[in-house]
Amino acid sequence: MTLLNSPEYLQIPVHVRSFCYKMPFVVKQEPYLVAICVVSHIQATIICSQQHDLQIRTRSGGHDFEGLSYVAEVPFVLIDLMYLREIKVDVDNQTAWVQAGATIGELYYSISQKSKTLGFPAGLCATVGTGGHFSGGGYGFLMRKYGLAADNTIDAHIIDVQGNLLDRKGMGEDLFWAIRGGGGASFGVIVAWKINLVPVPSKVTVFQVARTLEQNATEIIQRWQLVANKLDERISVWMGMKRVNSSQHGKLTIQATFVSTFLGDVQQLIPLMRKSFPELGLVREDCTETSWIGSVVFMNAGLVGSAGNESPEVLLNRTQFRMSFKGKSDYGRKPIPLEGLRGLCHFLYDNEVRGAVQFVPYGGRMDEISESEIPFPHRSGYIFHILYSVSWQEEGDTAGS
Ligand SMILES: Cc1cc2nc3c(=O)[nH]c(=O)nc-3n(C[C@H](O)[C@H](O)[C@H](O)COP(=O)(O)OP(=O)(O)OC[C@H]3O[C@@H](n4cnc5c(N)ncnc54)[C@H](O)[C@@H]3O)c2cc1C
Repeated sequence: MTLLNSPEYLQIPVHVRSFCYKMPFVVKQEPYLVAICVVSHIQATIICSQQHDLQIRTRSGGHDFEGLSYVAEVPFVLIDLMYLREIKVDVDNQTAWVQAGATIGELYYSISQKSKTLGFPAGLCATVGTGGHFSGGGYGFLMRKYGLAADNTIDAHIIDVQGNLLDRKGMGEDLFWAIRGGGGASFGVIVAWKINLVPVPSKVTVFQVARTLEQNATEIIQRWQLVANKLDERISVWMGMKRVNSSQHGKLTIQATFVSTFLGDVQQLIPLMRKSFPELGLVREDCTETSWIGSVVFMNAGLVGSAGNESPEVLLNRTQFRMSFKGKSDYGRKPIPLEGLRGLCHFLYDNEVRGAVQFVPYGGRMDEISESEIPFPHRSGYIFHILYSVSWQEEGDTAGS
């Protein structure tokens, strides 16, 4: 029994549990203390930790791929921000203050309760924390139109190593630059972000279309690589590849799934897709018109395995996603040739692991922002982002089949 696995900690209902913690290859040190903090507790914890020669790990949503928010090889104190979740939306000024322990699902929900025509460009998994997500960049389906979450962050409150609480002016432009893409944990504990909200239309269209190798997936993938970053910037078509059962009994095949959010209605979308990406064969029946918050629920459902038409309250569930998973990112400057795609399929056919690959198109607004504007250099010249992942099932997992 460890502190992180103790029944008291795991039963706190708002807590996103640590799905990476059981990884056998991670050298783990038990935290000396788990401090579930408000702002003054964080300041006291930083000062006390120094006096006792303990390092600090800061956890917001607990979704770090390497478990860096709750794993260390040295004695440490874990600062858990789960009680710092206040969100104040200012519709008139199109801004919001969000405390760093809130999840992006809670942020999206709060915005939708105040406005039907404002949104925010961040990721799709509702349980990801704003603390780690904004400080690492934060990409999602609005990225081609509005950039990253970090691009739309305009102020922050951080507690530094001396325990000082500083805003953007107090911390200075260099530190404010660094915490928007460079990771927050090296610099202090961020307690809140001020963000610019972005306009979204009242009608948004989503679709998910799957094609197997037998349905010409290879040709469609090749075409996707050429057009996805050049499409109208209101369209973001993500492409995922994984192994599935073939329609031919007893055989396996590779399936490419194309998932998209379009900032507009279906009547506008269909002609745009027919012109630029006819190979996909998108038809009206593949599409669902919804609100921006409806599109967020739809995309989150793809991760947690729900239907996608739930009420927005589902985004407030901080325990909906738990899976054993390892991911690595890559960035593409040019299309992967046919030979490379064949190699990728070979890897996905492997029976030992449950592998998947997700391609996220760049272009649009991402091309316009300088590579040094914030510490997120993958801008003009990059055509997509790749996420390689393997997942496996452990007791208590709720997703990932
Ligand atoms: C299932 C899943 C889906 C994902 N989907 C997306 C996606 O769609 N788009 C995307 O861009 N990314 C996505 N990610 C990646 C995710 O954005 C990053 O892993 C992010 O760092 C997680 O933030 P967190 O607060 O949940 O994690 P944590 O593990 O709590 O924190 C991550 C890192 O940030 C540090 N940190 C956290 N809070 C603070 C703070 N307040 N002050 C200082 N440092 C802090 C931690 O110490 C740690 O080093 C996904 C990850 C997972 C596991």
